[in-house]
Amino acid sequence: MSGTKLRLNNCAKTFPNGTQALLPTDVTVEPGEILGLLGPSGCGKTTMLRIMAGLEMPNEGSQVYFDEEDVTHIPIEKRSVGMVFQSYALFPNMSVRENVGYGLKVKGVPNKERKTRVDEVLAFCRLEGLAERSITQLSGGQRQRVALARAVAPKPRVLLLDEPLSALDAALRDVLRDELAAILRDLSMTAIFVTHDQSEAMAIADTIAVMNAGQIEQRDTPESLYRAPKTAFVATFVGGANRLEGRFNGEVLNLPGGTVPLSFSEQVPEHIFVRQEDVKLVDEANAKIYGTVSGRIFLGTHYKLTLCGVCADPFSITVPGTDAPKIGARVGLHIPQHSLIQF
Ligand code: ATP
Repeated sequence: MSGTKLRLNNCAKTFPNGTQALLPTDVTVEPGEILGLLGPSGCGKTTMLRIMAGLEMPNEGSQVYFDEEDVTHIPIEKRSVGMVFQSYALFPNMSVRENVGYGLKVKGVPNKERKTRVDEVLAFCRLEGLAERSITQLSGGQRQRVALARAVAPKPRVLLLDEPLSALDAALRDVLRDELAAILRDLSMTAIFVTHDQSEAMAIADTIAVMNAGQIEQRDTPESLYRAPKTAFVATFVGGANRLEGRFNGEVLNLPGGTVPLSFSEQVPEHIFVRQEDVKLVDEANAKIYGTVSGRIFLGTHYKLTLCGVCADPFSITVPGTDAPKIGARVGLHIPQHSLIQF
């Protein structure tokens, strides 16, 4: 893999008003790795990205390294980072070519070389044929790709993207998410992007750092975050698992709606969760646990049902196929022991 290794060493940020936006954090991003910073609003992801960029000075004792170079006190313009902002921040009075070539011009790259690099990047970002257009004549998705092209044209050491898809409407976002994932992979540049959308993080990132209240709760591959969450926050934030909170009597877990058979070879776990898609509807006669349908949404490939009475909190399941029980129906459930997430 090409690219720069980025390392945050004991990085923290407390704002003058006392807000601890980032608690002391260590992060390493390998050369060519794509890291997603995922978390709810206010968890500190933008602050971390801005510290990586050199737009925010972290607390004393924090260190930022690009490879072996300590860049903590180097400002953004000397750090060689490419930034893609939520708003794109393109120059509206310049053409696509001028926007993409801007960073190279500032660096004093000669005309001929600049044109070659701009053409190369435009092709990479699937913008051929749009070079002479003005920014105002582009769609949202095209603007997003111009912003990306402009950021990568000067061959930055690290590419940083702040909610790169959030300005697009939902239908376009799905298409562009896959496209952005493909372009970033082809670039094989060290990249960090901020998002609050888990499907976006999963589609684009090699690894995801799930953040909550100023710290990273878990950093893992999308698969591991989903299958083996290590905290209750991660289990519920990524994929919306149901928490099974009940009394364990040695053989079964007693919940308000019935029982789930359980056996533990080691100590009883503190947290037990089950994913929505792992719960099966079964005949009431064969069920050991029940619920009543209180919400029912059709989502194309499946229904999402909300059930009351299973646990103290509302319980969600997904039902594949062309039909699902109606609101008010009492249903029997099977919660397979092998599908439980325990920690
Ligand atoms: P969002 O998704 O809403 O952008 P975020 O996870 O990116 O959220 P940050 O922007 O990093 O969160 O903010 C983390 C915390 O720091 C929040 O509580 C925010 O209000 C606070 N904060 C951010 N910038 C400042 C500032 N300049 N002064 C004081 N507090 C700030």
